[in-house]
Formats: sequence, C-alpha cells, structure tokens
Amino acid sequence: MDETEPVMMRATCRTDPDVCPVSGQTFTVPMHPNAAPPIFRAQCDQCGQLVTDLVPV
Ligand SMILES: [Zn+2]
Repeated sequence: MDETEPVMMRATCRTDPDVCPVSGQTFTVPMHPNAAPPIFRAQCDQCGQLVTDLVPV
C-alpha cells in the first residue's frame, strides 16, 4: 500500500449548467495526489465529466 496524505482542493465543475446541476459550484474535497501526472484528477459526481478547475486550498 502506498499511502499518501490527502490534499484539500477546491473543485469546480465547468460543464454547461444545462447539463450539470452543480456547474459553477465549488466543493472543497480531500484529494490524493497521483504518483504520475495528472497529479490531481477529479470527476464530477453529477455529470461525470472531468473537473478541470482544481485549486489547492
Ligand atoms: Zn458537473
């Protein structure tokens, strides 16, 4: 097991609001950095698209 410390990230889904009910809403979530790029990778729970707007808290 390779345990890494989670990092708090502010994730905002930028999908079209007609498609995603949480588009434009920012969620602060703990994320585990990946060993290889992309270091942080998130998927929107609502629309299933990759969240490209990730900002370290
Ligand atoms: Zn979304």
